[in-house]
Amino acid sequence: MDDIGELILALIRGIGVLALLTLAHGFVSRTLSAVVTKGVAVGIVFGLGAIFTMFDPFVLHPGVILDARGIILVLAAPFGGPTAAIVAGAAAGAFRFWLGGAGAPLGIIVILTAAATGLVLGPVLSKRSGGYDLGPLLLLAVAGSGQSMLLLLLPAFVPGIDPWPMIAPHLVTNCVGIIILGHFLSAEGRRQHAHRLAESQATTDPLTGVGNRRIFEQTASIVFSRQEPAALLLVDIDNFKLVNDRWGHDVGDRILRQVANAIRAAVPKNGVVARYGGEEMIVLLPGANARDATAVAEHIRRIVDEEVFYISRTVGNVTVSVGAFVSERADSFEQAFVLADKALYQAKDAGRNRVELYVADTRENARMDHGRRTFVTA
Ligand code: GH3
Ligand code: MG
Ligand code: MG
Repeated sequence: MDDIGELILALIRGIGVLALLTLAHGFVSRTLSAVVTKGVAVGIVFGLGAIFTMFDPFVLHPGVILDARGIILVLAAPFGGPTAAIVAGAAAGAFRFWLGGAGAPLGIIVILTAAATGLVLGPVLSKRSGGYDLGPLLLLAVAGSGQSMLLLLLPAFVPGIDPWPMIAPHLVTNCVGIIILGHFLSAEGRRQHAHRLAESQATTDPLTGVGNRRIFEQTASIVFSRQEPAALLLVDIDNFKLVNDRWGHDVGDRILRQVANAIRAAVPKNGVVARYGGEEMIVLLPGANARDATAVAEHIRRIVDEEVFYISRTVGNVTVSVGAFVSERADSFEQAFVLADKALYQAKDAGRNRVELYVADTRENARMDHGRRTFVTA
């Protein structure tokens, strides 16, 4: 009976390691974004967690140890992906090999079984809002209890040992441990998910899915403050009010989404797209010169002209006007915006469905509004 008490205590002490592991996992998944690096880092955290529990095990017999490693390793894949499970399993397996003893071969088999259980179930279980509900965790716990059954093989490795009294406490603690740790990790995952969602909602325009004015102004201010080459494009839908009035708001909303998609398709990867006002989109092109800016602006104008319709090509063709500002050493975002807006007015004045470019050759030109105006006719 004493032995069983000690085993349970050892496994409960392992739960202390689990709490630390939750914190470390939360930190890693918050700070790293690349999938592979994150997988490796989470794998190291889970591997170290498993190793820590092996430092403080219940010693069933010289060289035969029981601990909470299986709880941790089952959860590696569901919470860190396949890479994490492989890294954690390899680290824990190597450590158990290094510890040695008669129980080492079975210990390594338990480690690999636990990691593999998570690997198999991970892709099948569905996360909700960044965490697992009780159902998937129960399934992991039941599947994880296979490890306890492996203890029945112990006599094959260590003659004369009786594993039976250990099976029930090991099984129960393992199941409960998987559910508790899984719940902690899920709670952290949900918290991060909610945080990311709030962050993306605060920076995204809900109708079009592009950035909103706030995030755009933040980004553009940083880029312009570096005084590096950059271009700003203002894209405004032509006569949108008239057509909106005629075809209705729903059609107008669809057009806004299509125009936003056309802009996204035309803008290179390092460009930033946002909805600036009602039917006005804005694009930042870091590093762009006059030729790049013209090409992107003209591309946007052409795609919208050719591919976006209110009803059909003949009945209602949507067009946009683009005002562009380009500078080799741009002044502030505010200055760039004012000059791009002037260019946009010129484009509207000159008949719409066209691009007008305002090139500031030098900072002084931009400041004094003496820039060279270039018309690019549609
Ligand atoms: P211009 O060619 O000079 O730009 O004329 P315009 O009619 O496009 O410009 P104006 O600024 O007079 O009208 C903008 C219209 O855009 C007014 C409004 O009906 C429409 N609009 C603004 N936001 C939305 C929106 O979220 N959805 C829809 N459907 N329409 C919008
Ligand atoms: Mg308009
Ligand atoms: Mg407008």
